[in-house]
Amino acid sequence: VPREIKDEMEQLYEDIEGLRDEYLLLDKIGEGTFSSVYKAEDIKGKVSQRYNSHFWTPGSRYVALKKIYVTSSPQRIYNELNLLYMLTGCTRVAPLCDATRVRDQVIAILPYYPHEEFRNFYRDLPIKGIKMYLWEMLQALSFVHSKGIMHRDIKPTNFLYNPEIGRGVLVDFGLAEMQPDYDRNEVEEDSLASIRDWRSHEQFCPCIVRDTNKQNASSPMVTIQNGKVVHLNNVNGVDLSKGYPKNETRRIKRANRAGTRGFRAPEVLMKCGSQTTKIDIWSVGVILLSLLSRRFPLFQSMDDTDSLLELCTIFGWKKIRKCAALHGLGFEVSGLRHLSENGFPNGLKEFVHKLLDKECTVGTFPDYSIAFETHEYLSQELYDKRSIEPKLPRSTSGEPTMNTEGPHGYELKKYQEEIWSDHYWCFQVLEQCLEFDPQKRSSASELLQSAFFNELNE
Ligand code: ADP
Ligand code: MG
Repeated sequence: VPREIKDEMEQLYEDIEGLRDEYLLLDKIGEGTFSSVYKAEDIKGKVSQRYNSHFWTPGSRYVALKKIYVTSSPQRIYNELNLLYMLTGCTRVAPLCDATRVRDQVIAILPYYPHEEFRNFYRDLPIKGIKMYLWEMLQALSFVHSKGIMHRDIKPTNFLYNPEIGRGVLVDFGLAEMQPDYDRNEVEEDSLASIRDWRSHEQFCPCIVRDTNKQNASSPMVTIQNGKVVHLNNVNGVDLSKGYPKNETRRIKRANRAGTRGFRAPEVLMKCGSQTTKIDIWSVGVILLSLLSRRFPLFQSMDDTDSLLELCTIFGWKKIRKCAALHGLGFEVSGLRHLSENGFPNGLKEFVHKLLDKECTVGTFPDYSIAFETHEYLSQELYDKRSIEPKLPRSTSGEPTMNTEGPHGYELKKYQEEIWSDHYWCFQVLEQCLEFDPQKRSSASELLQSAFFNELNE
């Protein structure tokens, strides 16, 4: 463990009294805009015993300790903890095992999930592996959506997957929200039932968030009774139960979530007011597209308009215009003639195979930050104007992601034949996820019924 990380962990022990007695910090495993995540050992085994059924390795005492930064708004912190609590009970959603706060710093304890990073396996997951990945993700989402919750940030780094055991778990509810018009009666009954169920299994603990603030050591920050949050203390004078306060001076750093733009549904890109849980299904479609075409990241644009242009190059501008009209918007682009009118004639199937055959590459253009470059679907004019050196998407490790041949010898040709023939259902699933009209887009539970997953039920 590098020196800086050791120092950081030492600082955490100093900041949080009592932490040392319960958790042995081992390493830092993640760092985002809103948090740092550490691997730790649950020394006394309290949490790992109670939440035993959630751990992938029976008897494991490894936990993930998520330190939520103070720059995160109190509303966001409260929101994340509350939703995590509501979602306890599904083994494909990381449960909130424990939480503690000191002043305005909040620490959440989750089971530790030994997973592989997406960029290390997306190129060579066999078709059955793709099915298992998707199955796990859709199971998690069908549970989350049944509570009326939209995750809002579905992407590979928020879904921890272990290709060896074929298990996955959804994390990071920092941006999640309740769908406003969701049938609440239904939701509450549902969530109560699952909490009761969970209580009988894991000895219900009425106060899940302990407050270690010295002046106020005995009062809990969040108390949950009958599945509802009934008591909230304030954090540094900010009452967490009352939404985002007007006099709050800390800025919300929403713009920093830029990395996730490629996963946004069209209705999000078009800033449509009434978004539903279907926005997550679109993101699943983007991930499936990445897995099938063995390209990651697939979309690169830095803003919402560019994202729509990227979608134009695949689906054609007519479809985007139709979608805009659905949300009461117009869609005009000055260089419309450069863009494909109808996209790939044989849809996503053709697009995926073009990417796999390397007939289609991703290039940069002076007029558009990115386009999928194929001679046929771009005007000659734009094709000629394309940059000489196409800028390839880069993975976080800095490696170009054009390599479509898996390092473990999973043959590309064999895979391509498989998705053309026996496993062609993958394209039906893909099309159902990447449906522009959210009402027509399939739900997670509908997708789980697809014949694509038959192999897993046999
Ligand atoms: P952020 O809000 O900063 O994105 P996340 O909850 O997504 O925080 O966690 C960031 C990263 O930390 C994840 O992508 C993952 O690599 C790692 N991580 C988070 N939770 C766990 C866990 N329970 N087990 C193992 N690794 C985890
Ligand atoms: Mg995250």
